[in-house]
Amino acid sequence: MEQPYEGWIVKVALPARFRLALDYLPPEGMLGVPQPGLRVRVPVGRTRAIGFVVGSAERSTLPASALKHITEIIDPEPLWDPVSFELLCWAAGYYHHPLGQVLSATVPTGIRDGQAATAEVLNWQLSTAGIEALAAGPRGKKQRALLELLRSGPMEADQLSAEGHAATLRSLNQKGWLESFLAPATPPPAGAGNALPPPLNSAQQKACDQVTASLGRYATWLLHGVTGSGKTEVYLQVITQVLARGRSALVLVPEIGLTPQLVERFRARLTVPVVTMNSSMTDTERLAAWRAARSGAARVVIGTRSAVFAPLPKLGILVVDEEHDASYKQQEGFRYSARDLAVARAGRTGVPVVLGSATPSLESLANVAAGRYQRLLLPERAGKAVRPAIAVVDLRRHAARDGLSQPAVAAIGRHLEAGGQVLVYLNRRGYAPTMFCTSCGWMAACRHCDARMTVHLKDAMLSCHHCGANEPMAFACGSCGGELRPVGQGTERVEAALAQLFPAAPQVRLDRDSVRKRGEIDKALAKVASGEARILLGTQMLTKGHDYPGVTLVVVLDADQGLFGIDFRSSERLAQQIVQVAGRAGRGERRGEVLIQSAFPENPLLVSLVQEGYTAFARAALKEREAASWPPFARLALLRADATQRESVFGFLDRARSLTEDLGPDVRVLGPAAAAMERRAGRYRGQLLVESAQRASLQRMLSIWLQRLAQLKTPGGLRWSMDVDPLELD
Ligand code: ADP
Ligand code: ZN
Ligand code: ZN
Repeated sequence: MEQPYEGWIVKVALPARFRLALDYLPPEGMLGVPQPGLRVRVPVGRTRAIGFVVGSAERSTLPASALKHITEIIDPEPLWDPVSFELLCWAAGYYHHPLGQVLSATVPTGIRDGQAATAEVLNWQLSTAGIEALAAGPRGKKQRALLELLRSGPMEADQLSAEGHAATLRSLNQKGWLESFLAPATPPPAGAGNALPPPLNSAQQKACDQVTASLGRYATWLLHGVTGSGKTEVYLQVITQVLARGRSALVLVPEIGLTPQLVERFRARLTVPVVTMNSSMTDTERLAAWRAARSGAARVVIGTRSAVFAPLPKLGILVVDEEHDASYKQQEGFRYSARDLAVARAGRTGVPVVLGSATPSLESLANVAAGRYQRLLLPERAGKAVRPAIAVVDLRRHAARDGLSQPAVAAIGRHLEAGGQVLVYLNRRGYAPTMFCTSCGWMAACRHCDARMTVHLKDAMLSCHHCGANEPMAFACGSCGGELRPVGQGTERVEAALAQLFPAAPQVRLDRDSVRKRGEIDKALAKVASGEARILLGTQMLTKGHDYPGVTLVVVLDADQGLFGIDFRSSERLAQQIVQVAGRAGRGERRGEVLIQSAFPENPLLVSLVQEGYTAFARAALKEREAASWPPFARLALLRADATQRESVFGFLDRARSLTEDLGPDVRVLGPAAAAMERRAGRYRGQLLVESAQRASLQRMLSIWLQRLAQLKTPGGLRWSMDVDPLELD
C-alpha cells in the first residue's frame, strides 16, 4: 500500500456530484498554493472541469500516484472578497449542500464556463488586411455587411453574436481580416437623479434616522408598514445616505415585484449606476450585471432571490422588500432563503439590513420579540386614505352560487353602482377544481399524480396543475357513463358568473391562464388603472406589486382553503394574502370595504385578523405555533426522496432513519411519511421530518447524518435532497 502524499495540496470544490472538495497538486512549477476563491481547471477522470479553490493542506490522505496537478489557474485574483467567500462556505455548511454546487450556483453561467470575471470584454476590429479587403469589395453579402459594420470602429464580441454575426466573424477571422483585443466594458448608465425626494412624514423620518444612525455596523430592521405607507421612500432616502458615504446598496425584491416602474423610480432619484439582476435576463445580461457589480461600477443592485450573492465591494446596506414573500426561498438544488442570507451577509459585513413588509413573516416578528431585530412602524398610508372595513360572510347561512354568496353579490352591485371598482380574489385558476360524476361519484384524476384534473372550460381541456398533463374534456363518466359536472370553482367560472350578474361591468381576469407574458399583465393593469375595467378578478397574482387605487371593495371568495390547509404555514399565508390584497385597494377618500367568505367565521385566527388586524393575528398565530412546537419555536429540516417505485422511496427513507438512531435525544425524526401528494408526475414522494428546539443541535445532527447518507447506496433513479428551514412541508 502506498504512503499518503506529504506536501502541499489544494482543495478544489467542483460543481459536479462530489459532496467533498477533491485534492489536487498545485500547478506544475508553482511555488506555494493558489488562494481560496480562484477558479481553476482540473483533470477529472478523462475530462476536465472548472472548479473553485476552497483551501489547502500540508498533506493528502491519498498517495502521490492518485493526485493530479491543477492544469490552469483562471483568475488573477479570487472571485469573492474574503467576507463573501466565508459567507458562502458558511451557507454551504448551514444548508448542508455541497460547496462546489453552492459556489457555482451563485455565479452567472459565463463565470461557471470560465469567462473572465473582470468587466473586460472581447472586442473585434478590422485588421489592415480587413481594411484592404473591404476596399477591394468582398463577394459574400454577409461578409461585406460585417466588414461595413466594423468600418466605423471596434465592437464587442457579445453584441456581434447577438446580432447574428458569430459564424461570419469566425470565417473573417480565419482569413486574417479581423483583430481582437480586450477593453473595459461600457459601465452601466447612471441614473438621472432628477426627481426630488418628498419631505418624509414623521414615522418615515424616524425610521430613516434610525437606520441611518446604524450605518457602519450590523443591525436588522423590520420596517413594518402597510402598502403605500412609504417604505420604498425610506429605502431610497437611506440609500442616498449610503451612497453619499461612498458605499453601495443591495435591494432584493420578490420575483414579481421587480417591475420597470420600481427600477425607474430608483434611477429617477439616484445619480449612480443602478443594475438589475433577475431570472428573466439572458446569460450575457446577467454576466454584465455581475461584472458591473463586482468592479464597483454599479453602485446599486436591485434583484430577485439570487442577487443576494451579488458581489459588491464596499457594500453599505441591504434591503429585502416584502420579506415575507415565498419567492425568497429557493425550492430546488441549493435550497437557501435569500432573506435569511441577507441577514447573515449583513452580520458578516457589519452593515445594517432593512426587511420591509406590510405583513411580516412570523419568523421575523418572533425575532423582534426576542430582541434580535428592531421594528420600525409606519402606521399610516403616506397619502390620505383610511383603513378599509373588514367583514366576514358566513357561508353556512348564505349559500354561494358559482362561488358568490348573496351578500357578496349585493355588495359588488352597490360598489359598482357608486362608481367604485371591485376586486375579487380567488386563489384557484381554471373553471373548476374537478369533474364529478353525478351517478357514481367518480372524479377526474391525473394519471401521473395523486391530484384532480382542473377543468378549463374555454379550452375544453382537463389539466393537471402539478405535472402539466392535459386531456380533452369528456362529459360522460369514464367509469359508469353517467353525466359529469364540474364541481367547485376557479377564476374562469367566477368570471362567467360575474359576467352574467353584471353584464354592464367590463372585467379583467388576472391569473396564469389569462396572462402569460409580462406585457399582458401590464395591458390588463392599464385597463384597471384607466377605469375601463370595473371588476378585477384573479389569483395570488393580484397580491403582488400592483396598486389599485380605484378599488373600493375587495371580496375574498374562499378563505377556508388557507385556514384549513395541510401546511402549518397555511393560515399565515392566507392572512398575508388577505392583508396584501386589501392593502392594494383604495387610495381615495372613499372608505374601502373587504368581505371575506368563510364557512368557519368563528375561527379564532380569522376573528383576530378581521377585528384587530395583522399584528393581532400574528400574535395569536405565534401562540399556536409555540403550543405545537412549530417554527419559529422549533428548527426543521426535511429529507425528501422520490422515485418511480414506491418501495424504493420508503426503503431508502427507512434506512436513512435507521442512520439517525444514535444521533441524540434533542433531535426528533418523524416519518417516513408520504408527501401530501404522494405521486406527482409519475414519481412517488416521501419524506423524513427532523425537528429540534435548538438550531445548533439540529446542525450537529445533520452534519453527521449527511456524511452517512452520502455513503448509503441508493436504488437507481432515486433522488433525495435535504431542505433546511423548509418553507413547505409537502
Ligand atoms: P410602500 O413602499 O410602503 O408601498 P411607497 O414608498 O411606494 O410605499 O409610497 C407610496 C406612495 O406614496 C408613492 O407614490 C410615494 O411616492 C408616495 N409617498 C411616499 N412617501 C411620501 C411622502 N413622505 N410624501 C408624499 N408622498 C409620499
Ligand atoms: Zn360515474
Ligand atoms: Zn399530474
